[in-house]
Amino acid sequence: MTANPSSSQRPVMLITGGSRGIGAATAVLAGRAGYAVAINYRDNVQAAEATASAVEAAGGEAWCIQADVASEDSIMAMFAALDARFGRLDVLVNNAGIVDKKARVQDMSGERLQRMFMVNTVSAFICAREAVKRMSTELGKEGGAIVNVSSAASRLGSANQYVDYAASKGAIDVLTLGLAQEVAGAGIRVNAVRPGLIDTDIHASGGIPNRVNDLGPSVPMGRGGSPEEVAEAIMWLASDKASYTTMSLVDVSGGR
Ligand code: NAP
Repeated sequence: MTANPSSSQRPVMLITGGSRGIGAATAVLAGRAGYAVAINYRDNVQAAEATASAVEAAGGEAWCIQADVASEDSIMAMFAALDARFGRLDVLVNNAGIVDKKARVQDMSGERLQRMFMVNTVSAFICAREAVKRMSTELGKEGGAIVNVSSAASRLGSANQYVDYAASKGAIDVLTLGLAQEVAGAGIRVNAVRPGLIDTDIHASGGIPNRVNDLGPSVPMGRGGSPEEVAEAIMWLASDKASYTTMSLVDVSGGR
């Protein structure tokens, strides 16, 4: 990684968990829209590099940055590297997230709960905090947009599956509602998307690789969604086309 503060006149979008799934699909659409895309990943450098190649093929600029968003130190190092590389931030997509194995609340360990809320919730607060410092017109910056990736689970509760995950996303909804009001006068819009059943690796990581095929027919639209269908909503919320939209929770969930 080389410091190159003047490398880009493009708007800069940081996507946590940009290496795969919904984050990767968003990165490619952002590349098509002309962004310089900072692709955060935790472990999968090959996936991050493949996404970077796709961003560049789409016409954007790409930069991969490893950081475990469960660690505040790691997030701070990521933002320091972002500053050195681009010297600006226009859009933050708080996308990195995990599920755990199917379990009932009565069987969830404290360690599991800590990890779930660190990766899915505390990370989003810390990244949002750092983004606001780099966007706020009250601090002499140029404004920007934050898009949080929540889940339909925050409405549904995910009983007998992963209530911890659903609750971690409920907190993301409330972060969105509260922060949006705090920074509306500082040139920053804050919104969330709430995807339903989307065809990514996350289901296999939770031990249910066939989840989208199995449950797709039960969705009112009769199928699961694609990462690109979620990415389109994220890109709209990030863009000036959504210039009067803040504090919104946008469901991308096929009718459920
Ligand atoms: P995915 O395919 O499993 O990809 C997860 C991404 O997050 C990867 O890029 C991964 O990086 C990254 N990541 C995970 N833990 C991280 C950490 N500690 N630090 C940094 N990066 C980390 O997941 P997805 O389905 O695209 O999910 C993206 C978001 O959408 C999540 O917030 C998820 O809760 C939400 N969502 C998904 C669905 C769905 O059905 N798929 C539905 C509703 C909401 P590596 O590649 O390095 O592992």
